[in-house]
Amino acid sequence: MTRIASHRGGTLEFGDSTPQGFSATARMDVEEVEFDVHPTSDGAIVVHHDATLDGTTDTSGTIAQMTLAEIRAATIRYSAGGHPLTLDELCSIYAGSNVDFRCEIKPGVDGLPYERFVDRVIALLRHGNMLERTTFSSFLIPSMDTLLQSTDRPSLWLVSPPVLRQLGQDAVIELAMAHGIKEIGVHIDTADAALQSCVIAAGLDFGCWAAHSACQIKKAFSLGVKVFTTDRPTLAMDIREKLEVSA
Ligand code: FE
Repeated sequence: MTRIASHRGGTLEFGDSTPQGFSATARMDVEEVEFDVHPTSDGAIVVHHDATLDGTTDTSGTIAQMTLAEIRAATIRYSAGGHPLTLDELCSIYAGSNVDFRCEIKPGVDGLPYERFVDRVIALLRHGNMLERTTFSSFLIPSMDTLLQSTDRPSLWLVSPPVLRQLGQDAVIELAMAHGIKEIGVHIDTADAALQSCVIAAGLDFGCWAAHSACQIKKAFSLGVKVFTTDRPTLAMDIREKLEVSA
């Protein structure tokens, strides 16, 4: 069965990384909730997509240079007044849920991995009893290296369209294998059956991200990818249900 991951708590249905989106996703019949994490200046870990608050809240500033209190004061757009959550709070929301974590390790505003961040994320997930229910992801090979050294939990490499185009599928697969990566995810628009079968033939799992339209979601199901992320989890569940009925 192809797994559905509610991307940032279902951005197109609930706003970007909002408390209401994460709470709603925890009650959905989806397999995973995708989210991104950043460190604050005072030792907390915040769940937010961008490294700054500028694009998605009423506040501007770089998360890593702000205190948790400053970040909590920001209101997320299209969130019905919600504020950014901490990773501890996200663990609490999912304690009684069947939906598992897909935690993306983001870089800072400079595009580089945060110093000694992965170990802190792992420790916090362990403390929140969610580590054993977490798959990690990253676009950055250095963060993948750190993840693979630091945890036995599954970790997947997100391959961007320019990386796939510039390296080509053979080099992407070679690079993944050289780094001990066991799963890759590509943008749904760059996925096709030929790429999927090459990846699987190399012994790697294959998934997709950014399947937001009905057409993209149907494509992910028809390829039978392992998992895909979507900003529209409700739509994805509807489509899956209809496919199951017609099967
Ligand atoms: Fe993400």
